Amino acid sequence: MNQFNIITIYPKFFESFFEHGLIKKAIGIRAISINVIDLRLYTKDKHQRIDFKTYGGGPGMVVQYQPVRDCLDANKIGKCYLLSPQGKTLSQKKLIDISKEEAVTFLCGRYEGLDQRIIDNLVDEEISIGDYVLSGGEMPAATIIEGITRLLPGVADSIDSIINDSFYNGILDHPHYTKPEQIDNKAVPKVLLSGNHQDIASWRRKQSLGVTLLRRPELLKNVKLTKEDDRLLQEFIADSKQEENE
Ligand code: SAM
Repeated sequence: MNQFNIITIYPKFFESFFEHGLIKKAIGIRAISINVIDLRLYTKDKHQRIDFKTYGGGPGMVVQYQPVRDCLDANKIGKCYLLSPQGKTLSQKKLIDISKEEAVTFLCGRYEGLDQRIIDNLVDEEISIGDYVLSGGEMPAATIIEGITRLLPGVADSIDSIINDSFYNGILDHPHYTKPEQIDNKAVPKVLLSGNHQDIASWRRKQSLGVTLLRRPELLKNVKLTKEDDRLLQEFIADSKQEENE
């Protein structure tokens, strides 16, 4: 069981998150447990404030040290990850790594951010979900927990769907099709209806490699391609040129 503690000033934010999809299932089968902790319960301020003006002047408020320290003293399990746009950018590899940690604490920032001494003394690692700024760490924490949860044994219906997902093996996923076979002049690729599993696997690998080449060529540099992969990529390029000329 993976245990997640989330420290936030908006505990209700997570209510619907627990009630849907794989997160709901994972809680139900006890693959994960999530404990949301209200940071305000730990402030010594009589008005329950956990933020104050920034030293040196300037706009915005800053999360104070005392409530975070006391909250972590009472609730820290495993490493403390601060959600922060200044952290290392999240990747599928990082999700796989964290999924192996039994207990993790996520600290959600708000306002202008946290008193730097929290980061220096109390936080083990900062994680960003991308080069943009949100108003709080709640969505980033939910993003990470969702990304981890679907990797855990027994949570997804099929492990194949996980290992074929984009990034899991370093490249992007292949296209998917479902009913009907034909719609608005677009047909499902014939090979997918052939019933020949080897041909289907080969077509899917070719599409994965090709889509990665077109959209995220830098990913291919970190993947060990087999001779067959090289052949499939050449075939994908030839197919694309032929389609352009048709
Ligand atoms: N002043 C901070 C800065 O420029 O680095 C941004 C503070 S942001 C408005 C408030 C909080 O939202 C942050 O403390 C962090 O917890 C969260 N946050 C915002 N963007 C994020 C991102 N890309 N990844 C992870 N957390 C983020």
